[in-house]
Amino acid sequence: MKLIFVTGGVISGLGKGITASSIGRLLESRGLRVSAIKIDPYLNVDAGTMNPFEHGEVYVLDDGGEVDLDLGNYERFMDIVLTKDHNITTGKIYRSVIEKERRGDYLGKTVQIVPHITDEIKARITAAARDSGADAAIVEVGGTVGDIESMPFLEAARQLARDIGREDSLFIHTTLVPVMGPVGEQKTKPTQHSVKELMSLGIRPDIVVGRCQEPMSEDIRRKISMFCDVPPEAVVSAPNAASIYEVPRILDAQGVTDRIIGQMKLGPLTSGSDMTCWNAFVDRVINPEREIRVALVGKYTALADSYISHLEAFVHAGAERGCRVRVAFIDSDEFMVHPAGELLEGADGVLIPGGFGTRGVGGMIEAARYSRENGIPFLGVCLGFQIATLEIARHLAGLDADSTEFDPGCADPVVFLMDEQKGIGGKGASMRLGAIPVSIARDSAAYRLYGREEVEERHRHRYEVNPDYIGRLEGSGWRFVGRSDSDRRMEIGELRGHPYFVASQFHPEFRSRPGRPSPLHLGLVEAAMAYRYGEGPGTGAFPRDGRAQ
Ligand code: GLN
Repeated sequence: MKLIFVTGGVISGLGKGITASSIGRLLESRGLRVSAIKIDPYLNVDAGTMNPFEHGEVYVLDDGGEVDLDLGNYERFMDIVLTKDHNITTGKIYRSVIEKERRGDYLGKTVQIVPHITDEIKARITAAARDSGADAAIVEVGGTVGDIESMPFLEAARQLARDIGREDSLFIHTTLVPVMGPVGEQKTKPTQHSVKELMSLGIRPDIVVGRCQEPMSEDIRRKISMFCDVPPEAVVSAPNAASIYEVPRILDAQGVTDRIIGQMKLGPLTSGSDMTCWNAFVDRVINPEREIRVALVGKYTALADSYISHLEAFVHAGAERGCRVRVAFIDSDEFMVHPAGELLEGADGVLIPGGFGTRGVGGMIEAARYSRENGIPFLGVCLGFQIATLEIARHLAGLDADSTEFDPGCADPVVFLMDEQKGIGGKGASMRLGAIPVSIARDSAAYRLYGREEVEERHRHRYEVNPDYIGRLEGSGWRFVGRSDSDRRMEIGELRGHPYFVASQFHPEFRSRPGRPSPLHLGLVEAAMAYRYGEGPGTGAFPRDGRAQ
């Protein structure tokens, strides 16, 4: 088992996850099989109960794991499928140690942070790495070196490295190299301090990655090398990049891949490096021919990380069609005080993403109404699907419609809880979660985009379209062209007579990858390009019988 630990110093938000993902991508490009594990030193058992404002998006895995958004970066960069065991939290560790203590597994011993907590951490890292069957696993330790929370994890990492030996373990430390003063001098002191802190825990970094605005000067590299006791070639610049997807080649050009492979004796390898497809994708991302604008109307718009998988899905879809997708965040409450026409001026498409609770729903319905009535390409995802359904139920089917999530006593519960979800009390991991097969009708835009009748997509929701209303909704032009669970559950809606008014109960953004964009996001991008430039596919997939408008 070979483990590459990635730690962070100085401040959070240095792009440690992107560094870890990029290194994974680079090792894969040399023919290695790589997996990735994220450690989150918080007491939540998983990210599922966390507000997106706190921590960004809750990413969902095939197995239904509700995990840190960095696992999304690993899956996107490395094109792998991870399981919930690849996100280790303090909550999971303590829970299982306490359960073992209650069962009497520790045979009367005093249960302590070292060795019991650290042993549990080591066992989980080892199991996740082994079960993945990969040649090497990257272990990203969340938080910043010096935090109280991450101490047991760093201690476990130190012990693990010692257990498996120097050749099979490697430490990469990411730090900040800020620029100060009128001459714009790069400063090494924060890096020196944070490496010293790491060394005081018994960990000597093999590679130091300095996050900086411009590449580090030779001088600065030598200085860091000297103070931090790493060779100058192992001091690597991570300067600002035009796209996160450019980071692998920036690191590769500084010899990072060769260094890791050499030091860890990873091999035998396939000949050469295969970054051709990746680099072609990056070039398309960086040099788009065109640009479209999509308005993202949601309730967590104050933090872009809340919708990171959607933003990445638009990068993937845009690259496929040679266009940059500029996403403008609009707080849905704005639609209650300003006219939709004003707010959506210049938008070539509208996305309503997932969400929970009543706040902001009125504004989302208004944004959906305006998009529908004005032929603006529209994609609704999860809550966005329920919003589109309610909008059509109210304004086309004439129902007094609501979701029981927002109004439990409403006259027409068009969106409601199915029996399985009734009576569930706890909030943790209690939704309909993970990859579930969906059947798609052939005569639909969704079929054109997916190219298949059977697809699998990831879910995270409690509420569903109420089957009692399907006849009336379809009669109003809202066709349920995607269904699951023997047609009991509605998964994709498409509006007749509109260039692109599509919504899904599942989250297509979680399976979007470079070179394999989410089909429904691609559909929105194509329709938005047609809307802006008046050409291309995206129109014509729907029978225009005029019933909808
Ligand atoms: N709140 C809705 C539900 O629970 C939508 C969830 C979501 O958008 N992820 O069904």
